[in-house]
Amino acid sequence: MSLTILKGTIVSAPALGQLDITEGGYLAAEDGRILGVYPVLPEQYAAAPVEDWGDALILPAFADCHLHAPQYPMLGTGMDLQLLEWLQAYTFPTEARFADTDYARSVYRKLAAELIENGTTRVCMFSSLHTDATWVLMEELERAGVTGYVGKVNMDRNGAPGVLEETTEGSMAETLRWLEGCGDFAHIRPILTPRFTPSCTDELMAFLGRLAAERDLPVQSHLSENQSEMAWVRQLHPDCEQYWETYAKYGLWTDRTLMAHCVWSDRRERTAMRRSGVTMVHCADSNQNVCSGVAPVRRALDEGIKVVLGSDIAGGDRLSMFDVTASAIRASKARHLMDHWDTPFLTVPEAWYLATSAATAFFGEPAGFAPGASLHAIVLEDGQLPQPHPLTAQERLERCVYRRQPDAVREVWSAGRRVLSRGRSRA
Ligand SMILES: [Zn+2]
Repeated sequence: MSLTILKGTIVSAPALGQLDITEGGYLAAEDGRILGVYPVLPEQYAAAPVEDWGDALILPAFADCHLHAPQYPMLGTGMDLQLLEWLQAYTFPTEARFADTDYARSVYRKLAAELIENGTTRVCMFSSLHTDATWVLMEELERAGVTGYVGKVNMDRNGAPGVLEETTEGSMAETLRWLEGCGDFAHIRPILTPRFTPSCTDELMAFLGRLAAERDLPVQSHLSENQSEMAWVRQLHPDCEQYWETYAKYGLWTDRTLMAHCVWSDRRERTAMRRSGVTMVHCADSNQNVCSGVAPVRRALDEGIKVVLGSDIAGGDRLSMFDVTASAIRASKARHLMDHWDTPFLTVPEAWYLATSAATAFFGEPAGFAPGASLHAIVLEDGQLPQPHPLTAQERLERCVYRRQPDAVREVWSAGRRVLSRGRSRA
């Protein structure tokens, strides 16, 4: 039995719009599982060592529910095109390099380290179509302490022939080979990943849907991101009234499905999401960078749809989920203005909930710092900036969302393990 007790200003968001704040509180975990948050240390833990962080913030770690690992090298470049042109000009040539596993190793090691440094301990991530590089990605995430889901991408049409595309048979065979090699990871699990409907033939989609059902696997893909993309999907599937039906007809539309973007999902498509329990992954930076649109994220929440956040690098240009949280708030305000002030915007506690606790259900865990949850936490010292007045814990959280402070993240815990340790910055 191993006890972990962290003392500080403990803030979590167990539900949309709710902040639980315990100043000078104790977060206790046993063998990596949270026992509780206490204003006074319970008697039975009196003899246990306490890591006293003073007034530092102790926050749940982030979940980044949509990002493309092989696009990490192109992060911050190629922002002058819209989606479909951007894929051909920048993305496919960059992803093609991951046929080289040495290159993959060097890139993915850096990516995994940067995720942890920014307090992201859970991911739902796209790899490239390369099986071997996908295993390398899973190894590097596991080694750094990142947990969650990784998918080998499937794409057997409309890729870059000779550069980045599979045959239908090859895609199926490689998916099975990849799954066989996924059994050894303790904290990284496979997720089926048809890139998006234009990238996958009907035969491949049907195969993936059967596989999802037979092996009880989750699914991630893209939905209604860009209007040209949607028009293309209508041409490819004249039998389907809407984009989502191209996934639903193959069994790829369930309560274990994540769909990125949903910028243009209308009420009918959003109703289908809610009824099936599909999760919307809102990626505000990406939607703006490749000029896709402004997702009605706050309205989707009001309608009872499950919403989480994604950095979507490298359509998104920021890996830090603090930045992604601020971007989601800004996007919701843009939507508020576009809708003539009819749609409410995301408040800071709401957006921060989406970036942290909202995703935990997808990983099979309770929200916030609930007893029984595995310990995913950030210890953050935020004392570098001048204060206009003594800030409340909620104001400090808000400023962490909007303002970077170098090396503010002092410690990161992932699945009960300390995966980053910088110690206190001031004694
Ligand atoms: Zn994406």
